[in-house]
Amino acid sequence: MQRILNHINGQSVEPVSGEYLDNVEPATGKVYSQVADSDGRDVDAAVSAARAAFPAWSSMPAEDRCAVMMRLADLVEKNVDALARAESVDNGKPLSLARSLDIPRAAKNLRFFATAVLHARSETHPMEGVGFNYTLRQPRGVAGIISPWNLPLYLFTWKIAPALATGNTVVGKPSEVTPMTAYMLGELCVEAGVPPGVLNIVHGLGAQAGAALVTHPDVPTIAFTGGTATGARIASDAAPMFKKVGLELGGKNPNIIFADAALDAALEGSVRSSFANQGQVCLCGSRMFVERSIFDAFVGRFVERAKALKVGDPLDNDTDQGALVSKVQLDKVTQYVALAREEGGSILCGGDRPEGLSDRCKDGYFFSPTVVSQLGVGCRVNQEEIFGPVVTVTPFDHEDQVVEYANGVPYGLAASVWTGDVSRAHRVAERIQSGTVWVNCWMVRDLRVPFGGMKQSGVGREGGDEALRFYTEPKNVCIRVPGPSQS
Ligand code: NAD
Repeated sequence: MQRILNHINGQSVEPVSGEYLDNVEPATGKVYSQVADSDGRDVDAAVSAARAAFPAWSSMPAEDRCAVMMRLADLVEKNVDALARAESVDNGKPLSLARSLDIPRAAKNLRFFATAVLHARSETHPMEGVGFNYTLRQPRGVAGIISPWNLPLYLFTWKIAPALATGNTVVGKPSEVTPMTAYMLGELCVEAGVPPGVLNIVHGLGAQAGAALVTHPDVPTIAFTGGTATGARIASDAAPMFKKVGLELGGKNPNIIFADAALDAALEGSVRSSFANQGQVCLCGSRMFVERSIFDAFVGRFVERAKALKVGDPLDNDTDQGALVSKVQLDKVTQYVALAREEGGSILCGGDRPEGLSDRCKDGYFFSPTVVSQLGVGCRVNQEEIFGPVVTVTPFDHEDQVVEYANGVPYGLAASVWTGDVSRAHRVAERIQSGTVWVNCWMVRDLRVPFGGMKQSGVGREGGDEALRFYTEPKNVCIRVPGPSQS
């Protein structure tokens, strides 16, 4: 059976313990590979390699770092088929989605940040008759990067790319649930000529390998994407060491449809935002609010569309929805649907395992697209992140009310607003507490904009210039320029 090894100092290495974790294919429920169960000793080795590589990598001209990263991006693109298949098998997402979105976006992340540093500016402030203040932005050293399972390579590269481009070296800890594409990235690094030690990848459990990285004294930067509870733990572990910590966390995102919206587009967008990747995108809209005058008609059409989604083998070309990522996730979603029933919800479609799965998938972790109505906005199902193909639908009567509903959760990651009234679009976007607000679209993003969450959805922003700032330390230098009488 294939073993997923660590990538340390440019080489594939076994974990020091010699221990491995089973890696399951969610579509079949069967173990198909094994992943290194690393601990603090592997993290130590990776951090040492990253520290040793830092002086040369950080002092290399940005053009040269860019060239290395562009070669890696080219290889990701060249291997899109193999990577997409690996991600689909590892994660349960439709192969078509991995091929069209996840893997191309990983290459784009690398390209975007590799070239962004070539255009980066730093500020100089002339102080007349006194001197100049300018700001040097310097890489901090080893960046510890911890990523989740839902968009494995996409989110791993989202953080690796700006860290490397700005001259940091990296120790990455991908999710133990979906380690395969990060492992393949390590192999591509060798082919691309990434110098040994610049990007190290340590696999294993969060509480063991992840925690060792967070608390390592030689890792001054921690960039994390994952759940809010894990983020809180990481923040408290890192705080006494005064690390620079960025947290991209969970969401409970509102999707608001006003009666004046272009309803066909709102319907298409809502189906995508509710069920893409089996609802396992942090930006998915899981609470749909529909203006009362169109509620019955719109929700009726939405339910028909949800029922028509083809749930099945992720490797089949015509599959719309694959498997949930794990048994743990399937159980969690199942329990939330049971809770929705207890809380008085009415299940308009789904709510259980789909029928007609192929023999290969009979033990896989599948769940039908599920729509729930009749729930109060304050109930647990409407307050807690489920992270699966479950969406609640609630009518509203006016703008103030829906803004209150949208903001009435502890999260603030993303929101969608569908309306034909441009003034309303601006008003509502301004009032919603959310790091991103989409108007008449979903999941459209220029990589230059700041990305992150408000409230319990995160701390700090990445993307564009924000990411270049996050991975560098600003240092102010003041040069006194004595006037003629003082010289
Ligand atoms: P998770 O928090 O369980 O795990 C994320 C990563 O953290 C994994 O690599 C895990 O091994 C590691 N980890 C766990 N405990 C740790 C610890 N004590 N110290 C260090 N590392 C530790 O999240 P998940 O289940 O993999 O991902 C789903 C969550 O991620 C959802 O809540 C989703 O909303 C969130 N997410 C957020 C964004 C965003 O951009 N805001 C993007 C994608 C996913």
